[in-house]
Amino acid sequence: MSQSLLYRAFGVREGYEYVRPDYRAGTVQFYLTVKAEFFVCPACQSAHAIRKGARARSLQTLPSGLKPVLLVTEVPKCECMDCGTKFELAPLLPRRMSTTPSSSPPTSTRAAG
Ligand SMILES: [Zn+2]
Repeated sequence: MSQSLLYRAFGVREGYEYVRPDYRAGTVQFYLTVKAEFFVCPACQSAHAIRKGARARSLQTLPSGLKPVLLVTEVPKCECMDCGTKFELAPLLPRRMSTTPSSSPPTSTRAAG
């Protein structure tokens, strides 16, 4: 599957780099990483942000044929070298598309502050 098709089909936005598909246990998983140019401090807009680790999140998206499809994206943890702000990078992803019953509870959004 081409990257542009992936973008169109699953709503993956600019900001992610498509790495590879992984077919296992009847599930298709597409791995996405965050592009380097998005490592910018949200506080001071400095590009001197370094990666301190990452966690992964996956979301189920439109099935391909009968196979469930998961988008597995990394969420890099970064620290700004200029102002010390720590932040996570999570470029826009499509909202969870509920084409199949979800086994996990919906994430509740809490207002910060
Ligand atoms: Zn900063």
